[in-house]
Amino acid sequence: MMKKSGVLKMEKEKNIKGIKIRNFNTFMIVIACALYAMLLYATAQMTSRYNDFIRYNDEYIACHESAIEMNAASDYLTDQVRLFTQNMDLQYMNNYFKEANESKRREKAIANLQKYQPTDDELQALEAAKASSMDLMEREIYAMKLIAMAKGYADYQLPQEVRQVKLLGIDKDLSKEAMIARARELVYNRSYMNAKALIKSHSDHFVNNLMRRTASVQKNSMAALDKSLCNQKLLISLLFVMNIITFLVVTMLIVKPLSVYMKCIREKMRLETMGAYEFKYFAMTYNDIYELNEANQAMLEHKATHDPLTGIMNRSAFEGLKDFLKQSPKPMALILLDIDRFKGINDTYGHEMGDKVLQKVGHLLSGYFRSGDYPVRIGGDEFIVILNDFDEVNKNTIKHKLNLINNELQDTADGLPLVTLSVGVAFSKKGYSDELFNQADAALYAVKEAGRNGVRFYNDIKNIIK
Ligand code: GH3
Ligand code: MG
Repeated sequence: MMKKSGVLKMEKEKNIKGIKIRNFNTFMIVIACALYAMLLYATAQMTSRYNDFIRYNDEYIACHESAIEMNAASDYLTDQVRLFTQNMDLQYMNNYFKEANESKRREKAIANLQKYQPTDDELQALEAAKASSMDLMEREIYAMKLIAMAKGYADYQLPQEVRQVKLLGIDKDLSKEAMIARARELVYNRSYMNAKALIKSHSDHFVNNLMRRTASVQKNSMAALDKSLCNQKLLISLLFVMNIITFLVVTMLIVKPLSVYMKCIREKMRLETMGAYEFKYFAMTYNDIYELNEANQAMLEHKATHDPLTGIMNRSAFEGLKDFLKQSPKPMALILLDIDRFKGINDTYGHEMGDKVLQKVGHLLSGYFRSGDYPVRIGGDEFIVILNDFDEVNKNTIKHKLNLINNELQDTADGLPLVTLSVGVAFSKKGYSDELFNQADAALYAVKEAGRNGVRFYNDIKNIIK
């Protein structure tokens, strides 16, 4: 028995098709964890790329600023030396040396630019610029010496670099005006401008190259940052789609079946097999129990309303039926039957044989009357048949059917003893009434009185009874 129910259970489980919530849940947890891990990784990567971008951006700006500073310092030196040759005010010379020896903006800018790992080519350009710059400074200091000599400044008023300069033979003998003119020529002439242009071209080569490289690194880091952002957007979209799928699946597989099941249970109906595997399994199991319960209920109802021996309705069903038939507007007939001398059958052939006779009578009554009529065993050997919607004018039909039944009861081919019936019949023009039963009973009594085995219609004998 246990084995059989186990096999049936396996069969049932095999027949159920559907997504298991447990599997779906595990699947979604794994996917969500993977997506969140990827999102965390993408966010960390984006943060690092953002920092790179900021760094490269800062480097680009610093590079640019250093390049500006370098040119500004160089121009400042040119301005100061030219102003000195024009105004011959020591202040300009001091400014020049303050810039060259203390501020050293140009050197600082170069040192700053060298931090960005210049290539050999760029370094070469830088060295060339530096060398040209030293040459130019020599020329500028020489020009300042000429002005100092022309102006007659004392040595102590001059910076060491100027003091140390030895004038060339041809310049020593020049007049003051010629010295001034010579100094101005040195810092204004074409050769000075060319030297300056050469320095600028070397430094531009270095700076532009460096800037281009920094800009390209900056651009690459921007592209990498953009890619990380795209990855992050994609992962967030995937998570969103996954949430929507989860929402839909939960609605279809769990929420909807639950609300349908609740409705079915409330309305005492079978459950529709729907939703996830577990819900289908639940519904099928519930339906099995439901059907078993329905069958038990029907069996109990049948037991309560039917006679277990003959299978036709019992007295308690007749009591219920009476209330229903009292409402009927239609004419009806009530046939009351009692087996004659049934005690004798029991005594002679035994109780079991008596039971078989009772079964035969019940069977004949169900067989000969219409399916809409009501044969009832009201107790012991007493039966009634209620013929709903039956008019008295058809009473011969009743006679005919009772004759046929009687003939069968006379037939002992089935091994049962011969029995006869006493029958009383009464009619009502509209529905059932207790009076109808009493009238049939009176008619039956009259048959018994007259020696049994017969049929009497109440309306035929009522005058005699009264
Ligand atoms: P009468 O012609 O006057 O009806 O005589 P009778 O012997 O049939 O008397 P009555 O109808 O009063 O007796 C009914 C008998 O039916 C009494 C009882 O022993 C018997 N009986 C009642 N129920 C059953 C049953 O379920 N099985 C059997 N075998 N006999 C039953
Ligand atoms: Mg009897």
